[in-house]
Amino acid sequence: MKVVTWNINGIRTFKGGIKRALDSLDADIVCLQETKVTRDLLDERCAIVDGYSSYFSFSRGRSGYSGVATFCRDSATPFAAEEGLSGLLTNHHQGSVGCYGDHHDFSTEELQELDNEGRAIITQHKTMYQEQMQTLTVVNVYCPRADPEKPERKLFKLRFYELLQCRAEALLKSGSHVIVLGDVNTSHRPIDHCDPDDIGDFEGNPGRKWLGGFLHNDCQQNVSEEDEDSGETSSNSGHGGKFVDTFRHFHPTRSHAFTCWNTMTGARQTNYGTRIDYIFADCSLATEQFVMADIMPEMEGSDHCPVWGELSCKLLPSSKTPPLCTRHLPEFAGKQQKLSRFLVKVDKQAAKTEAIQPLPGSQEAEERRENLNPLGAAGSSNEKKRTLTVDSATTKGKKSKMAKPPSKPQGSLLAFFKTKPTNAAAADRVTPSQNFPTAHAKPNVPSIADEDVDLTERARDDTCLSPDGSAEKASDGKTKKKAECLTSVSTAASPKKGTSLTFWKSVLHGPPQPPPCKVHGEPCVLHTVKKEGPNKGRQFFVCARPQGHASNPEARCNFFIWVDKGK
Ligand code: ZN
Repeated sequence: MKVVTWNINGIRTFKGGIKRALDSLDADIVCLQETKVTRDLLDERCAIVDGYSSYFSFSRGRSGYSGVATFCRDSATPFAAEEGLSGLLTNHHQGSVGCYGDHHDFSTEELQELDNEGRAIITQHKTMYQEQMQTLTVVNVYCPRADPEKPERKLFKLRFYELLQCRAEALLKSGSHVIVLGDVNTSHRPIDHCDPDDIGDFEGNPGRKWLGGFLHNDCQQNVSEEDEDSGETSSNSGHGGKFVDTFRHFHPTRSHAFTCWNTMTGARQTNYGTRIDYIFADCSLATEQFVMADIMPEMEGSDHCPVWGELSCKLLPSSKTPPLCTRHLPEFAGKQQKLSRFLVKVDKQAAKTEAIQPLPGSQEAEERRENLNPLGAAGSSNEKKRTLTVDSATTKGKKSKMAKPPSKPQGSLLAFFKTKPTNAAAADRVTPSQNFPTAHAKPNVPSIADEDVDLTERARDDTCLSPDGSAEKASDGKTKKKAECLTSVSTAASPKKGTSLTFWKSVLHGPPQPPPCKVHGEPCVLHTVKKEGPNKGRQFFVCARPQGHASNPEARCNFFIWVDKGK
């Protein structure tokens, strides 16, 4: 059997549709993080995928935020499924997973908060290994990222880790095999980070310390390895943990094996990333049943890549799906019996015109708008548009299903009558997104999502377009760099172009001509400071090359210059 984890950065933006993406991963159990689907946004297109059963956890707070989903092939239908780590979100005893561990260290309020952001889905499966029936519990998590600007999130992240460990170990103690997989948002060791030297106290990071205790380093040692020569040893720190990082188990010394890059800065092109997506398995499962695990950096479509693991055991599917399965949600339940044939015929024509409109675009536009306005869905105008978008997404979902008559046509009469509002909503959507500069389509992508430090800060700053961050990039300290930059300004402004440029600028108010960067002598790119603060709205030029390690001459140099003088 094969499991895959992937932070997909928005399930509704999948190009070519969800089924195609799932099928291409060729796995029995696909665990997705950052679906950006909340209960209000769940449509049939995301929820009901032919050949799979799906299990979602939604953020109870912000709409379109966080969220995880596990898709199980029909060959892997779980016997139980549960949302969250604490058990507080579970109100059905039948078909739930259980084994919550000891919560004496957590208040009920804290448990609720930790489970409130849609960060965990647990499915429980039956497997056959050496003619023995076994239980396998798969814990799909999207661990919080500690935003450096929100100190309280650091503690939240750690507490999430602790609750995760509590649950995972309780499940293990109950006799089940356990896989914990997902976006853990911490790179474990220096080898898992593109620039560990740039981070002050790498080992001292609390998330890393937790990982050190959660993982059992010793059982990584007894496996032979393909690339023994890069000199990295897994000797550091605690080996009392009960879980194994399966990728490292099979590739103890492989470096530059990253799963997350800041796509905004082009860091994927230079492979300047981190490994923060993992498949952890209990020691005996990892050593006895895992046959291979690896990353899939070639797979595009998100700022993370998928990670897979293959096991030698066989899955025994349940004959019925647990209550949490999205098929049992009221809006999807019983769809297949409803007037289906009739609807397919009537709707064919409408579906044809509908197909011309790119489905995923709506989500993108929605996200951009949200990024523009940090209050997001809370804003009133936004609220209205979101309602329309949701509505249209739902109807579209139904229709694209119905457009495929052969298998199981689904939909209700209502879907058919909603055609008009859908188009109106689509037209409405176009305008706001056009106002947005394309270069910064996703200003708050977490980038090199590792929570800590300089690198993240830098990436974030780039993303949020705070020029101080980018100026700081290379090494010696801000002031010196800035001074250098300012010097290079005067050299960069070529006198020949100068006159006419100033003239045209005064006439046309067009974008200023980009100066060449200092190191590569190539035209810079223009950015605008989006971050709140005294510099908001100011423009600056930076090297147009993709972000990379400071030692990489092909990567972005530290050239930086403000466009305007003063504020
Ligand atoms: Zn350059």
